[in-house]
Amino acid sequence: MSSEQDLGITASKEHETGEWYSQVVQKAGLADYAPMGGFIITRPRGYALWESIQDHLDGWFKQTGVKNAYFPVFIPESYLQQEKDIVEGFDPEVAWVTHGGYDELEERLAVRPTSESIITPYIAQWVRSHRDLPLRVNQWCSVVRWEATETKPFFRTKEFLWQEGHTAHHDREDAWDETILRLDQYERLYTDVLALPTLRGRKPAHDKFPGADTTTTLEALMPDGKSVQGCTSHHLGTSFAEAFDITYVDENEDEQTAHTTSWGLSWRALGATIMTHSDDQGLVLPPTIAPKQCVIVPIWQEETRQEVLGYAEELQAELEAAGIRVHLDDRDERNPGFKFNEWELKGVPVRFEIGPNEVENEEVTVVHRPDGETTVETLDNVAETAREHLDEVYAKLYATAEQHLEENVRAAESREEILGTIGQHGGYVTTGWCGDQACETEIKDQIAAKIVMVPMDEEPIHDTCGICGEDAETTAYFAKSY
Ligand SMILES: [Zn+2]
Repeated sequence: MSSEQDLGITASKEHETGEWYSQVVQKAGLADYAPMGGFIITRPRGYALWESIQDHLDGWFKQTGVKNAYFPVFIPESYLQQEKDIVEGFDPEVAWVTHGGYDELEERLAVRPTSESIITPYIAQWVRSHRDLPLRVNQWCSVVRWEATETKPFFRTKEFLWQEGHTAHHDREDAWDETILRLDQYERLYTDVLALPTLRGRKPAHDKFPGADTTTTLEALMPDGKSVQGCTSHHLGTSFAEAFDITYVDENEDEQTAHTTSWGLSWRALGATIMTHSDDQGLVLPPTIAPKQCVIVPIWQEETRQEVLGYAEELQAELEAAGIRVHLDDRDERNPGFKFNEWELKGVPVRFEIGPNEVENEEVTVVHRPDGETTVETLDNVAETAREHLDEVYAKLYATAEQHLEENVRAAESREEILGTIGQHGGYVTTGWCGDQACETEIKDQIAAKIVMVPMDEEPIHDTCGICGEDAETTAYFAKSY
């Protein structure tokens, strides 16, 4: 890479979203494509973002009774088969290990596509009495699903990073409370950390996790008008507990079947964040997860170098002392313009510019990454001022995403209107739905949009099904999705 042109983003977000996204991820140093299709190399800058998501969620999980554990990456075929026998529709595309060294294995091992089939039998061993409940374990790991799709870092990869929580409870209600608690925590992550408003609901019955009573979800709208499933939290009822024999002895010495849940969030949350906020200059990050929240760029001539740099170092020390993640770019071999472009590309939320004027007036010039808004601030309470600017940047990102979401939920009353509206605008289309999968299929066959969610506990806003005209059972949100 030689020219500045090569260093920067050359594709447009609006017109070539796929190519643009790929360039942002690579040129901002987040990930590279692996030699095998479907896999990526997560570089330190990208992994730091995932660690930040982990830190937030893991803290909330632990505050609410979850303990981390780790299960093997391989699952014996018989275990997976057992799950398949009891749970209709469970048929992930699995990668198999058939040999160990030179010897063929007696039993094939699956690379885990998800871990219900190996975690649940152990929960069954650990639960004996009502005093063992609720029991909650979570693991941070990767899973592999051998789906043949075009690779999109943090969106579509055969191996992806996630967490999967698995819990067992006394009764239905306690398991339901758990399901909603985890959905609430995921929503908090999107709202307070990733600056992404989401829609909250459940999957239609035909699209739940196999074996689940209810699959709840958060859906996020991407700039290309497609929906991303941001997480899932499943109320599994007693189907897994019955199949894997999770029983306990209650207060009256009677044997009871437990109720279970599972819930997961993958690095798609990161992909959705990058795709939503970034622009034609490169990566845009919420300050909450940015590895460096502020960059200081000194602007000097030979004769002002010493005093400008000294002032910049003082500023850096003061911000660091206040716990702000700050970088001072004091490279001699690069000019300020080059540095501005580079930190814009890499998504540092706030830039401080220090030149001789700032030194003389005891000021700093503050520039917001998302929109270039520039203000001059005094040096008094500069750490507090920096925090205010970081909060403002966060608020701007959230407001823009929220406006995009609000403008892209449209109601439709008929099949033609549903098809026309999604075809023309993308986004979400709400309509009444009778609950019959056949009505979804009619739309899906024509425009590849499906019901991504139905709201929980809400009266339908339409009287009749937009497709067949029967009475509406609920409101359905149709969208194209990732
Ligand atoms: Zn219908």
